[in-house]
Amino acid sequence: MDFTKTKIELGKLIGEKKIIQKNDGTMDESLFNSYGTDRTKVYSPNYQVLVFPENTDDVAKVVSYAYQNGISIVPSGGRTGYAGGAVAKDEEIVISLSKMNQVLDFDPFLGTLQIQAGMITKNLHKEAEERGFYFPVDFAATGSSHIGGNIATNAGGVRVVRYGLIRDWVLGLTVVTGKGEVFRFNGEILKNNTGYDLKHLFIGSEGTLGIITEAVVKLTKPPKDIRVIFLAVPEYKNILEIFKETHNFDLPLLAFEFLTDYCLEKVKEHLGVPDPFQSPSKYYVLMEFEVNDETDEEKLYSILESITEKELIADGSIAQNSRQNETFWKYREGISESLSLAYTVHKNDISLPLRNMESFLDEMSALLSNQYQGFAIALFGHIGDGNLHLNIVKPKELSDSDFFKQCKQVDPDMFQLIQKYKGSISAEHGIGLLKKDYLGFSRSQGELDTMRAIKAAFDPKGILNPGKVL
Ligand code: ZN
Repeated sequence: MDFTKTKIELGKLIGEKKIIQKNDGTMDESLFNSYGTDRTKVYSPNYQVLVFPENTDDVAKVVSYAYQNGISIVPSGGRTGYAGGAVAKDEEIVISLSKMNQVLDFDPFLGTLQIQAGMITKNLHKEAEERGFYFPVDFAATGSSHIGGNIATNAGGVRVVRYGLIRDWVLGLTVVTGKGEVFRFNGEILKNNTGYDLKHLFIGSEGTLGIITEAVVKLTKPPKDIRVIFLAVPEYKNILEIFKETHNFDLPLLAFEFLTDYCLEKVKEHLGVPDPFQSPSKYYVLMEFEVNDETDEEKLYSILESITEKELIADGSIAQNSRQNETFWKYREGISESLSLAYTVHKNDISLPLRNMESFLDEMSALLSNQYQGFAIALFGHIGDGNLHLNIVKPKELSDSDFFKQCKQVDPDMFQLIQKYKGSISAEHGIGLLKKDYLGFSRSQGELDTMRAIKAAFDPKGILNPGKVL
C-alpha cells in the first residue's frame, strides 16, 4: 500500500495538517504508536497513517475515501480500554477523535449537553457542573478516556448501582457508518417512538458499526453530599449480606465496591497510602451514600451499627470529610493503576447474577488455585453490580508470552463456569480482540449471526475496526 499517496489524498480532502504519516517528522514515533493501541499489553501497534479530524464532516470524508479504496479504519479515543478494541496492528488508518472535544449545545430545559465525541470524560463532568448539573458516569480512567469511547464500549464504572451504564445517559448520537454516511439518531428529544432505536446498536459496538462523532447526553442534579464507609470484612459471603442490609435504610447507595487484601497491599506499595485499619482483613468493602440532611447522617451510623451487630464486619469507618472520602476511594480506584504500572497482568472483567455469586466464587477459587499455581490473583470490583475484576498477576520469572499463553489456556474453563452460572464474560470492558474467540460463551449462534448481519448493514465492506468483537 502506498501510504504517502493516502496521506496526500486525505490531505486534499480535509487539510494536510490533519494527516500524519509515520516518521514524517511531525510526531515522535512512540507517541504516534500510542494512538494505535490501548492499555492491553498483548498487541503491538502497526500502522502508517494517523488522522485528526475536527468535525463530523471531516470524519465522513475520510471514511468515504477508505470505503472507496478498501482501506480499514481504527477509531482512536482515549485508549484506556482493556480489550484491545483500539489496537491498529494491520496498517489501518487511525482516526483520532482527540481534536473533536467541544461543547456544541446545551439545553437548560431538559438538562442535556451536545458534545463532540473526543471530549475527555472528566471535562464533561466539569461542563455539566458549570451549568449546575451532574454527569454521573464515573470511573478511574475519566481523566484520559473520551466520551465517544465510553459510549462505544457502553462504559460502566463505580456508580452503576445508582445511575446505570452510560447507555442510560445517551439521548442522541451522530455516527459515520462504514460507507461514510452520516446518521443523526434521535437528536435531543426525550420521547421518540418511531421504530427501531438504532443508536442503541452503536452503544457498545466498539467502533465496528460506525464512528461516533457527537453525542447528546442527559444530565442530572448532583447529590447534595456524599459519604463513604470503608469496611474490613472477614469472609466474602458477608459482602453480599452487607449489600442486602444497605437496602433496609432508605439511603441512596451510590457505590458498593470490594477488594481483597492483596489489592490493598499493591495500592499501599504504589501510592503510599496508610493502612485503613489496625488489623488487616481478607476483604474490604467501600460503600458510598448520598446524604442530604441530618436524618440521612443518622442512617449512615445505623447501617454501620446494624452490620456490626450482625457480625458481618471486623471493623468499619465512616469518612469524616471529603479528604477522607478520597483516601477511601484511593484504596479501590488505585488498584488497576498499581497493578498495571508495576506488573504484567491478565485481566478478566466478568459479571454474575448476585444470587449465584457465592457458588461461582467457591468453584472459581478452586479452579484458579488448581490452574494458576504460584500466580497471584487480584480480585476486586463493582460487587453491587455483580461485576468482578479478576486480574492474574504474572510471576517475575515468567516471560510475557509464556504467561499470556498459560492464561489463554485457563480462560475457557473460567468462561464455562460463568456460562453455568448465567453470567457474562465481559461486564464493562467489552470484547475487542481479547475476548473475541470467547463471545460464544455469552451469545448464542443465532445472536452472533444477527450481529454479523447488522455489521454488514452498516459496514458492508467490513472496514471499521476489523477483527474486533465478531
Ligand atoms: Zn470497573
